[in-house]
Amino acid sequence: MESIENVTPLLATPKDVVILTHRNPDGDAIGSSLGLALFLRKQGHTVDIIAPSDYPDFLAFLPGVDQITIYDNDPERAKEIVDRSNLVFLLDFNSLDRIDKAGELLDERVPRIMIDHHLFPEPCADFIFSDTTASSTCEMVFDFIQALGLQREIDQRIGDCLFTGILTDTGSFRYSTSPKLFRTVAQLIEAGVDDYKIQDLIFNSQTEKQLRLLGHCLYNRMEVLPDLHTGIIWLTKEDYANFDIQRGDTEGVVNFILRMRNVMMAAFIHEQPTIVKLSLRSKGDLDVQEIAKRNFRGGGHKNAAGGASFQNLRVTLRSFKKILPQYAESIREAYDKFHQL
Ligand code: 5GP
Ligand code: MN
Repeated sequence: MESIENVTPLLATPKDVVILTHRNPDGDAIGSSLGLALFLRKQGHTVDIIAPSDYPDFLAFLPGVDQITIYDNDPERAKEIVDRSNLVFLLDFNSLDRIDKAGELLDERVPRIMIDHHLFPEPCADFIFSDTTASSTCEMVFDFIQALGLQREIDQRIGDCLFTGILTDTGSFRYSTSPKLFRTVAQLIEAGVDDYKIQDLIFNSQTEKQLRLLGHCLYNRMEVLPDLHTGIIWLTKEDYANFDIQRGDTEGVVNFILRMRNVMMAAFIHEQPTIVKLSLRSKGDLDVQEIAKRNFRGGGHKNAAGGASFQNLRVTLRSFKKILPQYAESIREAYDKFHQL
């Protein structure tokens, strides 16, 4: 882990900061970026946030989210922001390919600080704060501010942002938790965060269409492979058109597969305009990060990872099922272990 003393000089004078986060930003990407931005502005810095692609609607309640520059929608503005910046933060991703073309804007001479909790960070920043035991990048932004000795600056608005990412990345405190995380959350609530309200805003604000789409996924698009303790949900391009599926509409669908006692691994495989995207989830010791990395040019965490395939959906589904038997033993081992207390 990088030492905080190495970055304090950078923050000692007002800077033009740009915060970059990953494509298809989730609650943690957006929450950590907004929380850090609010904090840095309080310290007198000028801050802009760039995300390669748009954020899902359920995050629209976060303060300042509409000020985020979306590279896909406005590449020129993104370039202007990066060009005038003299300090770059990279949040919630561990390799530049997660920000696509936005990465090409970066100038080697401008210092970069990475704050991230994904496995195997690539050396693409000058200062790398990497904690793969952290629940979320939001938890790490809290740690970062605390390490600067400025925890008193964490107000309710910053807390709302950080709590959001912690909530979404831990699946409402179901995984990646630790005693330290709960202590952090207690401090966020003391800073004024209404945890109940934020849970409602995030989880009880689905549209009718989204709930019916979930029904479609579970009823018509789910396949269970009992011997391999694996469940798959897939969506075709036609499904995307028929249900008018937008960004965020399929958020969390993959987790429903894990609700089956017998299932250790869940895959959500869906057709995008040019690629087929895979989201993998697992329970216990089963490592889907490795499966995503080895087979689908992806990565992530042990129990939540993703990747992509450049073949069509049918072929991708077939090759996914074909690679599973090579993991049969580790799946079974993880399964046996998981069902003992
Ligand atoms: P999701 O399935 O929700 O898109 O992503 C789950 C986790 O896997 C996230 O932590 C995300 O950063 C990571 N992930 C998803 N897709 C990719 C990918 O294509 N490449 C890499 N390296 N990580 C991914
Ligand atoms: Mn995250």
